[in-house]
Amino acid sequence: MLLDIHTLLVAVALVTAFCAGARLLLWRMHLAIPGLGLWALAGVCSVITFSLILLYGIFYWPPALSIAQLFIIVALGLSWEGFRRFLDKPPLTPWLLAGVAVIGLIWLVIAQAQYSVAAKAASNAVLVAVLSIVIARVLLLSPQQNTPAVRVTGYVYAINAAVFLLRAVVAHQHPEIADPVDPNGVAAYMLLWLLCSIIAITLGMVLMTAERLQADLNNQANHDPLTGALNRRSCDLLYDKAIAHARRHQLPLSVLMMDLDEFKKVNDYLGHSLGDKVLCRFVAVAQKILREDDTFCRFGGEEFVAVLPNTSAQAALAAANRLRNAFEINSALIETKKRHQPFTLTVSIGIAELQADEDFESLLRRADSALYLAKDNGRNRCEIAV
Ligand code: GH3
Ligand code: MG
Ligand code: MG
Repeated sequence: MLLDIHTLLVAVALVTAFCAGARLLLWRMHLAIPGLGLWALAGVCSVITFSLILLYGIFYWPPALSIAQLFIIVALGLSWEGFRRFLDKPPLTPWLLAGVAVIGLIWLVIAQAQYSVAAKAASNAVLVAVLSIVIARVLLLSPQQNTPAVRVTGYVYAINAAVFLLRAVVAHQHPEIADPVDPNGVAAYMLLWLLCSIIAITLGMVLMTAERLQADLNNQANHDPLTGALNRRSCDLLYDKAIAHARRHQLPLSVLMMDLDEFKKVNDYLGHSLGDKVLCRFVAVAQKILREDDTFCRFGGEEFVAVLPNTSAQAALAAANRLRNAFEINSALIETKKRHQPFTLTVSIGIAELQADEDFESLLRRADSALYLAKDNGRNRCEIAV
């Protein structure tokens, strides 16, 4: 191999230090994102690992290699838990962690007792491969967070597992070329791979964080911060799509325009913060009653709009009445401090079905007129637009 081992060792140690610095910075910048602290700690353990291997490479002091092997296992364990937390998986239980640590320690102690560098290298490579498979599994089998950066980082760990399994086999079959700093052995190939994988994994972590931040931003831009319902801006796009779909397939489509009754009085009587809770409760009830295909949004203040695809005005009336009744029953549970009596909260709903060649503004106007009719006719009722 043309590559000089000592130069490679210095390069790996330096790259690991820079990557650990980047991970610490990433953690410092986004303290609220779970898992980043553990990634940073794993980075610090990797710096210790490669500094010790460098030490072993210069002075051939065997304990440095053994301690380095221990630290790389700790780094992988921390990364595993870090990825789990980042992907919102339940944290590993202390019992499981203790079990993994005990098995790892027994394994390492047996390996260290062999007095053979090849045996140590092979046993360490098996542990690294097993932990890499576990991490790759966490990353590649996360259906809710199957983003490009998560997938690619998962593939890097899978390749790492394959490389270290191969290393274990080679160390077992050809102990004479197993020493991690032997220029005539497999050391240069391994160090080259480590150089690439450490950079790739840290880049993966940075990109995963960027993806998470972008998703949070999109979420904030599309949702109302109080109730969590879609906001008007995001709904406009969805409504256009729903109308185009209904036109193309000649399917009915209806709109519900909803307005909570006497909400000003609710605020005056119960207070603004309880008024906010009532709004949240209405959203929860609506999301439970409406179908998954329906698009529900907070239109503004105490007004909400729902677009019901593939629904005629009569079917929409049935859904609206279900929602109205469910909200009334639900809201009756709120008791006032003043009277200790149930406080009735109700909603009025205007319904309009899409007509041929009608645009969304005209459909909303008709639903709004129907809502006014419901208010004029005594509130807590639904009316269909003519
Ligand atoms: P109506 O039955 O005719 O609809 O009467 P109303 O009192 O509900 O109608 P109006 O539009 O006059 O009042 C709406 C009230 O909703 C006024 C406003 O203070 C309250 N409101 C709007 N947004 C919020 C909010 O985010 N939180 C709370 N607590 N109240 C809000
Ligand atoms: Mg209103
Ligand atoms: Mg109102």
